[in-house]
Amino acid sequence: MIRVLDKKTADKIAAGEVIDRPVSIVKELVENSLDAGASSITIEIREGGCSYIRITDDGCGIEGDEAETAFLRHATSKITSEQDLETIGTLGFRGEALASICAVSRVEMITKRADAKAGKRLLVEGSSVLENSVCGCPDGTTITVKDLFFNVPARYKFLNSEGAEARRIIDFASRIALAYPDVRFSVINGSKNVFTTPGRGDIRAAIISVYGADIGNDLIPVDKTAEGFTLKGFVSGPGTSMPSRNRQVFCVNGRIVASGVMERALDRAYSERLFTGRFPVAFLFLAMPPEKLDVNIHPTKREIRFDDNGEVEDFVQMAVRDALMSQEAIPQIRSTGRKREKTESGEQITFSRPSLKTSPDSIKDGELSYNGEETSERSKASETPRTEEKFDINNILSNLRESRSSGTRVQDVVIPEEKPKPFDFDSLELVGTLFNTYIAAQSGDVFYLIDQHAAHERVFYEKLMSLYNSRDKMMQQMLIPLSFSVSADVTASEDMWITGVTEMGYSVEYFGNNTYLVREIPAFMEQPEAESFLRDLFDEFAQKPDLTNRAVLEKIIRRSCKSAVKAGDVLSDEESRELFRQLKCCDNPFSCPHGRPTFIRMTRHEIERMFKRV
Ligand code: ADP
Ligand code: MG
Repeated sequence: MIRVLDKKTADKIAAGEVIDRPVSIVKELVENSLDAGASSITIEIREGGCSYIRITDDGCGIEGDEAETAFLRHATSKITSEQDLETIGTLGFRGEALASICAVSRVEMITKRADAKAGKRLLVEGSSVLENSVCGCPDGTTITVKDLFFNVPARYKFLNSEGAEARRIIDFASRIALAYPDVRFSVINGSKNVFTTPGRGDIRAAIISVYGADIGNDLIPVDKTAEGFTLKGFVSGPGTSMPSRNRQVFCVNGRIVASGVMERALDRAYSERLFTGRFPVAFLFLAMPPEKLDVNIHPTKREIRFDDNGEVEDFVQMAVRDALMSQEAIPQIRSTGRKREKTESGEQITFSRPSLKTSPDSIKDGELSYNGEETSERSKASETPRTEEKFDINNILSNLRESRSSGTRVQDVVIPEEKPKPFDFDSLELVGTLFNTYIAAQSGDVFYLIDQHAAHERVFYEKLMSLYNSRDKMMQQMLIPLSFSVSADVTASEDMWITGVTEMGYSVEYFGNNTYLVREIPAFMEQPEAESFLRDLFDEFAQKPDLTNRAVLEKIIRRSCKSAVKAGDVLSDEESRELFRQLKCCDNPFSCPHGRPTFIRMTRHEIERMFKRV
């Protein structure tokens, strides 16, 4: 039942102008469709939504007598009192959207409830109802919004180009489609079908429909529940990253949100796993007790407030870290089966790491495009022309009916769980060494290559950091002290680095004449390691000696530990095994301190595919 809220409740709601561009209309209408329990939603736009937006759903529809009420300000069926604001379970609750939309455009609404014999058709222009008639129509609601801001030319001026407005809408649609994988979303821009999600509740399938298989296939599942919080979704492995946060979608209790807290949690979970300036791909769905959350702080509800930011940040970070420690997080070598190219000599198989974008030269090409419209815009030349499709309402409605009869109602759908499989170091069996650089190992049906050098660096770095952080330093005495001659500026800035170096487990004393003597070194280091590490450190000090700054310190240590470990050293089996043992104890065994992977893997299945056994 749609009612106008009493003034007291209405005043409690964070008010604001909701409609500033076409995307705000799409957002409000789609949210209404979701609140109406739709299992299929079609979004059509023309000219960036400025001239035409049509949202068609198969939701519950509106009672004929109430159709007009829905357009009144503060008319809503979703809350009745102030108390309801505490436990909002719907996306809408302000009762303002339809009122604001019809004030600035020409709106047509066709709606029918399943139990009604006939539907209603309403025409509203600039808030006045021009027509209210009975009509035959399918169950559900179709709202068409034409000529946005026809009566407020001043605001029309503030709209960006049609392309930019369309992109905003498509971006919003992509995100909401992922947040509701059990709803079939179809987006049509002009005459192009941008994407259609399957609506089967499969998040990965929805991601693939929207962003393409390149991203979708290499994602690692996240799945953690603790103390009333559940985080599900997918993140990219350390092998894949983006130059911006564009591919990060956060959803909290069914609401797509911008969240600095969740961004920070992600950054913390990925620290040292990615090159600086790179961002992981993330589609994260957080379910949490509604009373620990305030959604009523922002007019477009895009921002939310957690009662306890730290609690959320820690939980999200832990959940993502667990996922990053799983087997799936190790970059996988794949035969490019899907894109095999035919050559004269038969099928060519290429080895590729499809989205391993860790190498700095590939950083530029990290941008991804949408499956539909944007791709075709960017690579027009290479693409075969799309067949022009006509999307008429009958077509869409019959599609909706079809999908409805397949029985995908929101409430019934259980999102299939993909659990990350924990990685088991103990099951690794050493099988040899490749090029004196990579250790080959197997575990069950998975084959691994471990970059000896990257692995060493990781072990060295974590040991050094833990020594730095601990109180009881394990050190070893040198028989003959090591001596280092440094440049005069290093001596001059001694008080900025000497404590830091001492904390790392070196005892350093000035000998005179810009020379330092080192009598003790960290116990875990071999003498040559200790020497070349210090040598590098002193070189660094010549440029940036400030070890009192923690961030600088960590950066310098990360850089210097590179030189301490030599590539190409032949390791005995026993040494390789020891390296595994040490790697196992690391917090972050799967990448070196600079973000390169230590492990890559290949499955038996992939190998058999390449040999054409399967
Ligand atoms: P709110 O969503 O905040 O309640 P709106 O102005 O967006 O306010 O919508 C007003 C009312 O119209 C809703 O409470 C709902 O009852 C009804 N309504 C709007 N869109 C739909 C739809 N697509 N299907 C069913 N009911 C709808
Ligand atoms: Mg609404």
